Amino acid sequence: MTDKNVDYIIVGQGLAGSCLALQLLFRQKRVLVVDRVREHAATRVAAGLFNPITGRAMTKTWMADALFSYLHSFYSQAEYFLKAKCLSSMPLYRPFVSIEEQNEWMGRSSDTDYVGYIERLHTSPFYAHQVNNPFGGMLLKQCGYVDTVLFSTALRDYLKNTSALLDEDFDEDALKIETSGLTYKSWQAKRIIFCTGEKVRTSSFFSWLPIRPLKGETLTLATDEPVKVIYNRGVYLVPHLWKVGATYSNDSTPSISEAGRQELTEKLNNLIAFPYDIVNQQWGIRPTTPDRRPIIGPHPAYEKIIIFNGLGTKGVSLAPYFSDELTRWMENGHPINHSVSISRYKSLYSKSA
Ligand SMILES: Cc1cc2nc3c(=O)[nH]c(=O)nc-3n(C[C@H](O)[C@H](O)[C@H](O)COP(=O)(O)OP(=O)(O)OC[C@H]3O[C@@H](n4cnc5c(N)ncnc54)[C@H](O)[C@@H]3O)c2cc1C
Repeated sequence: MTDKNVDYIIVGQGLAGSCLALQLLFRQKRVLVVDRVREHAATRVAAGLFNPITGRAMTKTWMADALFSYLHSFYSQAEYFLKAKCLSSMPLYRPFVSIEEQNEWMGRSSDTDYVGYIERLHTSPFYAHQVNNPFGGMLLKQCGYVDTVLFSTALRDYLKNTSALLDEDFDEDALKIETSGLTYKSWQAKRIIFCTGEKVRTSSFFSWLPIRPLKGETLTLATDEPVKVIYNRGVYLVPHLWKVGATYSNDSTPSISEAGRQELTEKLNNLIAFPYDIVNQQWGIRPTTPDRRPIIGPHPAYEKIIIFNGLGTKGVSLAPYFSDELTRWMENGHPINHSVSISRYKSLYSKSA
């Protein structure tokens, strides 16, 4: 791109910035992305898992019906656009821990809320050569993983090849807000969207938002075992990427930890029954919010300055749908749902101003 007039500047190219950039490119908008790769950004270390039934209580995740049907079409379109295979649909097997749990799920499996997500319930051990499941378990559908490194790298290459990437740290002092638009260095744009993950804490525009860092660690395994499903109980094991995760820790020491490795190994050994070697351990920081909802929308004082953040522990399933919601607001004035709108935190801005 030699023309330095774009529609949008996006700062940060993790899952949030990547999905948003694609939404805009799909609509033939001109974008400039400013991003410097950080090894420990959440998107660089995520296992990429998506699973509509989660948590200790195994309940359907927030907005699962809308998010999961949208996710498949979005990543498929992204694969076609980027010519990169990033999405793998794959069932997830979750062993039961007791007869009581097995009975509970026998009941729940006919519940209309869950019917679309349960492939099969096993009341006796299944895949027993690979997984410890004395009470059987359940096989969930609409699950899988996105190779988040491949996805963001493929888009980065596309942006580089079209001269739409500035591989640098964003310099806030070089941003000028004008009546007709914005100028960043020699670039002009109508709007700028900050998708900087947990680094939002250092932003002079958005540091007042309650986005909290939550450290996580993963292990990468080497094994010859031909695993064909994602195993999940206490930890998850994503085949092919061979990622095991994740820990959740408020200790933000910038390094991997022995405690993290031990926790993951113990949980993994309870789950699986085949040999493996640990070949890597990684850490990264998730950008979380108190109500576990993303934050999208314009700055209270500067409507051309926008945020897309707060993807927390579920960026893979949240980023496609909410990048679409944000794009529809920016392009067509379609209202942003209050539960994800930045406006729900407006009082914090007034207090900080
Ligand atoms: C260990 C771990 C495991 C996870 N596993 C999963 C999983 O299995 N499934 C799932 O859905 N989610 C998972 N997540 C969560 C998921 O990774 C996040 O929700 C998501 O990646 C957040 O994306 P983001 O774009 O908001 O932030 P980030 O990934 O942090 O990206 C922000 C980008 O902005 C750039 N940036 C920041 N500041 C600047 C600046 N000033 N100038 C230029 N560039 C800047 C950074 O370098 C980075 O590239 C996991 C997270 C962790 C830590």
